[in-house]
Amino acid sequence: YDDPVQIPILMYHAVHVMDPSEASNANLIVAPDNFEAQIKAMVDAGYYFLTPEEAYKAFTENALPAKKVVWLTFDDGNEDFYTIAYPILKKYKAKATNNIITGFVKKGNAGNLTVKQMKEMMAHGMSFQSHTVNHPDLSVNDKATQKVELTDSIDFLEDKLNTKVNTIAYPSGRYNQTTLDLAKKTYKLGLTTNEGLASAKDGLLSLNRVRILPTTTSKGLLSEIATDNK
Ligand SMILES: [Zn+2]
Repeated sequence: YDDPVQIPILMYHAVHVMDPSEASNANLIVAPDNFEAQIKAMVDAGYYFLTPEEAYKAFTENALPAKKVVWLTFDDGNEDFYTIAYPILKKYKAKATNNIITGFVKKGNAGNLTVKQMKEMMAHGMSFQSHTVNHPDLSVNDKATQKVELTDSIDFLEDKLNTKVNTIAYPSGRYNQTTLDLAKKTYKLGLTTNEGLASAKDGLLSLNRVRILPTTTSKGLLSEIATDNK
């Protein structure tokens, strides 16, 4: 490719039928039938689903493993990733990454993924990366606190899942220069909530994502993730 490749990194949170009591979080919840329509549309359009390692390779080598690629990411490690999203992903042989709040897993918070569930899903192509320990606003934390949030989350995941963590998704997309300086030492890729296609020209630790809303249709999604890679 002549120019830095563009890669659509989708950002999902929860996949379930929204309860009226969740109205204030509505933008984070995608209905299961809509989610399935989106996955099917990408499969039918010939998209290849990247792992975090493949994404890093694509950005650094400026080469893609397929003509059309997409990286599905989920934030927060909600349990519905296991109960609802994962069966759909498996049905279409799609791969996805969930960014985990490791302190919630450690405490065994209700509604969160467990280590056992993550291990099972890893055997079928799912990846688990860092979304810090406690989901703080990193941009207002001091350096020492940020360091613990960034490194303890890696240690937990690598120890419990016997996997290599290379990605951090900044909680609520909030970070500062200290975050980037620390992340550079321990991560290869950093995911923001800045809207758009991802490219190495934005910096590998401050990559854009495409936010999936409850109103995102599969047709709209396909047009949002179209790249002009050449
Ligand atoms: Zn989050």
